[in-house]
Amino acid sequence: MTSKVFSRPFTQQESISQEAIDAAIEVLKSGRLHRYNTIGDELSEASLLEQEYANFQGSRYCLACASGGYAMSVSLKAAGLKAGEKVLTNMYTLAPVPGSISNAGGEPIFIEINENLVLDLEDLSRKAISSKARFLLISHMRGHLVDMNKLMQIVEDNNLILIEDCAHTMGAKWQDKRSGNFGLAGCFSTQTYKHLNSGEGGLLTSNDAEFMARAIILSGSYMLYERHGAAPDKEVFADIRLQTPNYSGRMDNLRAAILRPQIKSLEKNIKRWNERYQLVEKKLREFKGIELPERSIEERYVGSSIQFRIPGITNADAKAFLEVNKKLGVELKWFGGDDPSGFTSNHKSWKYIEQQSLEASDKILSSLFDLRLPLTFTLEDCSLLSEIIGECAEPFLY
Ligand SMILES: *Cc1c(COP(=O)(O)O)cnc(C)c1O
Repeated sequence: MTSKVFSRPFTQQESISQEAIDAAIEVLKSGRLHRYNTIGDELSEASLLEQEYANFQGSRYCLACASGGYAMSVSLKAAGLKAGEKVLTNMYTLAPVPGSISNAGGEPIFIEINENLVLDLEDLSRKAISSKARFLLISHMRGHLVDMNKLMQIVEDNNLILIEDCAHTMGAKWQDKRSGNFGLAGCFSTQTYKHLNSGEGGLLTSNDAEFMARAIILSGSYMLYERHGAAPDKEVFADIRLQTPNYSGRMDNLRAAILRPQIKSLEKNIKRWNERYQLVEKKLREFKGIELPERSIEERYVGSSIQFRIPGITNADAKAFLEVNKKLGVELKWFGGDDPSGFTSNHKSWKYIEQQSLEASDKILSSLFDLRLPLTFTLEDCSLLSEIIGECAEPFLY
């Protein structure tokens, strides 16, 4: 057994840059934290963030809102989801995804995943036909992109309205197209553990004017939609403004001020995440019996976390494996636990939804481990934690 110990926390972000701190202090000094508290035709920090993120994303419109989960439920509402309607979605995702469907009044139908942790497209086709669902909320869980060309063919064949959960693919691309630009809407989170950090927050992007007008009114615009930075023309709101309820979920200027400078560092940070990811991937591949998802060369991913499987591992061994890693300072997540602690990503722990049989994916999740790669880890740290994982895994490998 190894004598190495890892001592860095897996939940430690880099500090907020001086530029962002200065911008936040300016907002605090002004006292005008609410996004519509502007003077003359000045654009608020929230509106400027919308312009800058739309620009980065290459989308026509952007709405800054309270969270990624909020962006998803508002998207479903703005896309016309009716109470009790079915929404196709991944069985492998995080609790805010089924939660957003429930919040919008819909009912999730879970689609199986495959060993590369992306949607099983055959299961999607089958269930799109059998359920007659109009919506697909795809979650690019842990940044793994399914073959988007094949996916779009299924979307087209079944007339699905596609909404993308890009909480883990902000900055990622399939071929030359950014994740979030494939369907009606892209939903992003700026919660601390994602690619931009404002504690909490969400961004919703789209090229569809009427959809975005509805989303803006839903987010609680007090009829001040003309003060938005990346919104449709005011004519688009003519009927929508009085026919759409207010579900307050705006972003404030303080968060927006912290986020704006971070957009400028995103490309550089993607390279830093991927250096870490590729190092850990290479090291873990040296251990026979540890399997890593295969990624398509068409996928330009953001490696802010990494997943691996120990096929065939029993639940008791998986728990023992987590324990030894933890003793040596390596915090792994396991997706096979019966009772969720710290996070929930398993459909079996969402008991408010009618239980669905997903045996193929259950088997994959029961052997799946996950770890974050925060940018506070150096490459040496990444190397060390890979060695610890590999050595801890040895007794459980075949
Ligand atoms: C974090 C996350 C979200 C959104 O989370 P919020 O906390 O609501 O911003 C959505 N999907 C996935 C897969 C996530 O990890």
